[in-house]
Amino acid sequence: MRCTHCREEFEGESVRYKGRDYCCQACAFEASLRTGSICGSRSSVEAGMRYARTQDHGMVCDDQPKPARVIAIDGPVAVGKTSVGRLLAQRLGYRFIDTGAMYRALTWKALQLGIDTQDERRLPQLADEVDIEVQSDTGEPNGYRALVDGRDVALEIRSTEVEATVSLVSRIPEVRRKMVAKQRALAQQGRAVVVGRDIATVVLPQAELKIFLVATPEQRALRRYRELAESGKGADYDAVLRDLQARDGIDSTRGDSPLKPDADSRVIDTTELTLEQVVDRIYALARDDRCL
Ligand code: C5P
Repeated sequence: MRCTHCREEFEGESVRYKGRDYCCQACAFEASLRTGSICGSRSSVEAGMRYARTQDHGMVCDDQPKPARVIAIDGPVAVGKTSVGRLLAQRLGYRFIDTGAMYRALTWKALQLGIDTQDERRLPQLADEVDIEVQSDTGEPNGYRALVDGRDVALEIRSTEVEATVSLVSRIPEVRRKMVAKQRALAQQGRAVVVGRDIATVVLPQAELKIFLVATPEQRALRRYRELAESGKGADYDAVLRDLQARDGIDSTRGDSPLKPDADSRVIDTTELTLEQVVDRIYALARDDRCL
């Protein structure tokens, strides 16, 4: 067979592009450059883009986003990590892993068993004993199901009792060690949006894209206050702000894995942004990182 582009005779399977036969991906790609378009199967587009980079063809980007495999999103209490992470994961077709839900699940179990939430010996044991599964589920209000020993406790782990104690449990180094191992195992398959406090710095420092969300305490308290009011739970704005600042304090001053951005993190101030605007920004960053 003769290649449509280089006109060389070749044997074996051709690369089909827009109904024509080419001897290799590079020829198919060069042919596509004439029309200024690039399309085809994912593998032929990827091969074409690899070739273009080596040949210095300048900026090329197909319409298919090829986002980072693991996106780490960290940030303080009520900055919107869960909502942003869930929406972003849906948009990318990635799994959503909420590590805060895992610490909450452990805390819920400890409270159920009457274990002191500052017991540094018993709590790491509990982390070993208990089966915690946080599964992506777009049908659920939080974007996941939180199973503790098979029981779905997605609602229970959002209770004020858990909120008030989770930061005490999560600051115990041995608890963190066990939870981090679980989180790494979950993220290992890739194609995941992972949200928490120390994802970029400790859990997944190799994440391709690292985001650190910030917003003023007042704005975060307002969001949390509205959330509580909408769900029919009575809330007092000043109390919400106080609790949030107390949790921020514990999370950012603890000795082990304190809340802070990684050197590579892109910091996004969400104070003036809507949820969709934040998701759009991260989505664009994920895209840009792959379109050289
Ligand atoms: O994000 P969320 O509010 O659900 O997290 C609950 C708590 O779990 C945080 O206040 C923090 O103390 C702890 N946490 C953590 N490390 C993570 C995720 C959450 O210490 N990666």
